[in-house]
Amino acid sequence: MIITVTRFFLFFVVIFLAACERQPAAYHEQLLVFGTVVDVQLWGVEPKQGQQAVARLAEDFDYMHNTWHAWHPGPLGRVNELLATGQPFSAPPSILPLIERGTELSRRSGGLFNPAIGKLIALWGFASDDPPKGPPPSDAAIRAIVDQHPSMTDIRRDGIQIQAQNPALKLDFGAFAKGYAVDRAIEVLRELGINNAVVNAGGDLRAIGRHGERPWRVGIRHPREAGILASVEVQGDESVFTSGDYERYFDWQGKRYDHIIDPRTGYPAQGLSSVTVFSQLADLADAAATALFVAGPEEKNWLPVARAMGISGAILVDDTGNIQITPGIRERLYFEPRGDSQLPPEVQLSAPL
Ligand code: AMP
Ligand code: MG
Repeated sequence: MIITVTRFFLFFVVIFLAACERQPAAYHEQLLVFGTVVDVQLWGVEPKQGQQAVARLAEDFDYMHNTWHAWHPGPLGRVNELLATGQPFSAPPSILPLIERGTELSRRSGGLFNPAIGKLIALWGFASDDPPKGPPPSDAAIRAIVDQHPSMTDIRRDGIQIQAQNPALKLDFGAFAKGYAVDRAIEVLRELGINNAVVNAGGDLRAIGRHGERPWRVGIRHPREAGILASVEVQGDESVFTSGDYERYFDWQGKRYDHIIDPRTGYPAQGLSSVTVFSQLADLADAAATALFVAGPEEKNWLPVARAMGISGAILVDDTGNIQITPGIRERLYFEPRGDSQLPPEVQLSAPL
């Protein structure tokens, strides 16, 4: 009798363990790629499937990082050399889609997001592995570039042939390449049958599906303190990208000069310390975060840009700590350490998008 009961019991233990093994669950891996930590979370996959998917993403991220790097030698560097000649040439297929998408996003931002200002970014010393130490470049050197108004519309395209019509044009995809890469990563995951995932590249992410029974929860970095400003739940298909003056900057004679350049003045954009943008596509969120950072903290300046770009929400933190949030986002934020969705006093709601 005892033996029968034990056998019976063992039979269920084995069935239970087998079910556990088959039960797909969370898979988590971090990659050092694209010049940052890319954190991949998957839900509902077997470990082997997760490993294979993440290995594929790692390969793709490496390829994209090398292809679109603004100052390391590679395809974008060669394209910039050929653009500088002013002559027509065949653009490599790895670069052409970014020129197209960059042109469209730049147009929608009213030119505040402008991937044609690579010369200004290099002049400020930000096209380098180590952040510059100053001094800032001379007014005359900045003027010399700004007065030529480099813009994506200066690229003439005929099939795969392109030609620069402005000697001041130099491509820098730094403000949206990460978003573009995250979009490609999500496409790959979907092709592999993975529909619940977060691809988080150094705090900038796109999330699809859910974490099992609950939405994904992600943190938004605080621009001035270690830790997060707030956390937010995302599900379905949504990107959250932040541009900040804390990422790359130098201090010179008591003033901070950061890496986001206002194409109208040639100087680092003033007034904000971070902008977080919500939208479905990561490349749009990335470009829009940069564009709103340039637009600055006045609602009359950034709101029209946000509307023109078609984003779904934004959080702007100015350099005195005041926070503006678009209405749809407010209810979704959890401020730390309160852990509830009450707004701290420094937060104001903006007009709807
Ligand atoms: P992000 O962190 O996405 O705002 O991107 C900032 C990076 O984009 C900088 O390091 C530059 O390489 C580049 N960049 C700076 N200002 C602009 C701008 N106004 N439009 C497009 N790219 C920019
Ligand atoms: Mg950006």
